[in-house]
Order: sequence, then C-alpha cells, then structure tokens
Amino acid sequence: MRPARLLAPLFVLALCSACQQAREPGAVMLITIDTTRADHLSGYGYELPTSPVLDGIARRGVRFENAYCTMPTTDPSHVSMLTGLYPRTHGVRMNGWKMHDDQVDTLAAWFSRRGYDTAAVTARAHLSPDDLGLKGFDFSDVPGPPKYERVFGDVLAPVGRWLEKRAGRRWFMWVHLWEPHAPYRPAPLYRKRFAQKFIESNKPRAQRRYSEPPTYVRKRLIPDDIVRASVGLYDGDIATADSALARLVGLARLHAPDGSEPMFIIASDHGESLAERQAEKGIGFGHGALLYDEVVKVPWVVTWEGEIGPAVISTPVSLLDMPGTITGFLDGGRPLLGQGRSLAAALSSGEEPVSEPVIIERRVYKKPPLRSLRQGQLAIVDHPWKLIRTARFHGPELYNLVDDPEERSNLVEERADVLGRLDAALDSWVEGHPVYEPGFSEPAELEKKLEDLRSLGYVD
Ligand SMILES: [Zn+2]
Repeated sequence: MRPARLLAPLFVLALCSACQQAREPGAVMLITIDTTRADHLSGYGYELPTSPVLDGIARRGVRFENAYCTMPTTDPSHVSMLTGLYPRTHGVRMNGWKMHDDQVDTLAAWFSRRGYDTAAVTARAHLSPDDLGLKGFDFSDVPGPPKYERVFGDVLAPVGRWLEKRAGRRWFMWVHLWEPHAPYRPAPLYRKRFAQKFIESNKPRAQRRYSEPPTYVRKRLIPDDIVRASVGLYDGDIATADSALARLVGLARLHAPDGSEPMFIIASDHGESLAERQAEKGIGFGHGALLYDEVVKVPWVVTWEGEIGPAVISTPVSLLDMPGTITGFLDGGRPLLGQGRSLAAALSSGEEPVSEPVIIERRVYKKPPLRSLRQGQLAIVDHPWKLIRTARFHGPELYNLVDDPEERSNLVEERADVLGRLDAALDSWVEGHPVYEPGFSEPAELEKKLEDLRSLGYVD
C-alpha cells in the first residue's frame, strides 16, 4: 500500500491556493451520532425520510458518500476521529480502554492552541475525554452515576449552558448523541411514523424484544416480524437524533461569536447490523463483530456556509482523515494531525481526492461469545474492491462493491489477482502499523512510538 506520506507534497501543492484564503470559523461543532449506518439516511439513498435535517445541512456543505469508520466500536472510533490515529496506534481497541499518553495530539488541543475554548458533552460516561486519555478539552460533561447514558434532551441542556457562557469567544465543541444506539426507543412521533405498523404487541416483554433484539443469535434466528419492528424502531431513533441535530445547529448559531456562521462536522462512529446475516454469521443486531458495509459505512458531512462546498464526494475515505482534513483546510498545508490525510481540497473546491485504500480494524474480544471472534479481523477497501480477512476461522472474503454492494458474492477464486494484491497491501499495512498495547502505558515505549511517528511525518 502506498504510504500516505508520499502523497503529502502533491497535496500541499494542490491545496495551497484554496487554503491560504480560508478564514477561521468562530465556532466549530463536531457532532457524532452513534450507530448510524449511512444507508438508512434519506440523504444517502434510504427510501424513508429518516434524516431531513442532516440532508438539509449536507446540501449546503460537503457530504462524503463513502466514508468508513476505523473500527466499528464506539470508543476506538471516536478516539480515531479526534486524534487521526488508527486504533492499533492509539491503543484504544475496545470500549473502556484508555490512551495512557498526554502527548498524542487531538483536534480539541489543536483548536485550543489557536485560542478556542473547547468542550465535550457526551451521552455516554465512557466517552469522557479524561477516561479516554484525550487531551485538549477545557470542559467536559458526561453522564455519571447512577445512570451512565442519557437521551438527547439531557445532552442539549449542558450544551446550551456552556455555550451561553462563551460571550463572543471562539469555541470548539464535541457533542455526542446516543440515539440510535440500542435499545431502540424513538421519540413518540418517530415511533409512530416508522415503527407503529410493525408493532404487533404492546406487552412489556414484546416491547423489549423489539427494542433490544439480540446480537448473538447462533441458531435461534430472530423472526421476521421482530426484525421488521426492530428496524422500524431503529429508523425512528435515527429520526429522533436527526431532530436533535436541528436543535444543536440552532444553539451553535445562536452562540457563534459575532453572529458568524459555525462550522459543523457531523459523522457517526459506526453502523449497525440489522439481522441481514444472522443465518450465515450468527449475528443479529448490533455492531463490533462484522466489517460489512452496513456496520462500517457511516455518514460524514462538513459544512461552513460560504466557505465549503456544496459537493458530494464519492471516493472512499476514512474518518481517520477527519483531523487532517479540518486542520489542513484551516491551516494551509502545515503539518497535518494524525496518520490520516487531508481532504481539504474536497472541502474547498469539491475536488474528488485521489483514491487511496481504506483500512478497517475490528475490536479486541477478550472473551468472545462466538468462536469466529477469537481472531483479529481486518478489511481493506480499494475501490471497487473490498477484502475482509480473518486470521483463522474463515477464509478471506473479496467483494466488488459496485456490482455487489450487499457483499454476498465472494470472488476469492474468480479474482485471485485482486485477492493477491489486496492481501499484500494488508500485509504491508500490518507491518507498518504495529499494535500498541495495552495503551500507551510505558513512557519509554511511548517516546519510541512517537519518534517513529514523527519520522514518518505523522506527528508534529
Ligand atoms: Zn458507538
């Protein structure tokens, strides 16, 4: 695989004319909507109107049509979005792990150095910047005991309180919404609109089956009527989060300094299995275990009216590129943050980036409920091809995403040439990206790692 650093000089040349003219936004809001698979958003082609607010925002900015998370697990994916590092590099490869390092740069720290007030308000306790080891946040508000998660209304309140105190100051804020993560419990309006016709029983036990369908089904497959109701509730939950988006955008605009237009960065940390592969893989609903597109393809939208887009970018990209793209766009080609690349030219001119392979990792399972999860799994997307490779229990899977977007026809035998090429690319990537475990716990090791990254131009 071609290292991203080889492309850097070309990119700097391509960006300079556009980026030198970019101003700095007075307000930047990063909104992550948990568990939102791209293909269930109306703006991404879904047949139901689940995301009118996001679609409207996207039309005024840049929408990445084929964006992938780095790992379909909440903490690792968010740490990648904020550091630009792969999970195996930042060390958070499952929920609850911490990056034991205060030297790894973050998007928040980058804005802080430029004089922005910085804050994180999240809907889950384990997404506390302190607990993840993410530096650069002046303020954070996460749910605490006795409840460790909260609905969007309880997220909006501290967002509003912090913004009210900014009084003309520039700010960067990360807001995390838990909906549509299971249990699927949409607001009544959206439950009625998307799920009611599939709900056959209002008994509490049935309600639980609809809103908390199992992840590991083994041979007890989830019946079709339950699947339909659960998918309806999931869609309703997406619409619920979408309605919260409207209120967040309103708050951001209200409190942007001098009435300036805020920059919005909106993405999800991973998608969701909706029982498509329960018979073949033993996985019903949920995420983390599989690397098919429904679990790893996510929305990613960046807007800043008058400065960005409008454009739709179809080249496959990774959320790893988020910090490099934002810093690259605002900083005219100075060293980028993290291991990802800058897609600044896409923001400034709508230019399609050079197609580069996208790598997706799978989380660590300490005590896997399924045998197939004992081994590591990796995927590489090299348009139009995608290879999913598991260490031992399953053979490789090769798909052509254009001809077969649902990833059903494994072409390993028919296209041995492509398999060989992508296999070698993954080998090369693995060799260049050693696993850093357990987090950055040893200062000496950390320094060595950072030195390596610096020598590659990945760290300032
Ligand atoms: Zn998540």
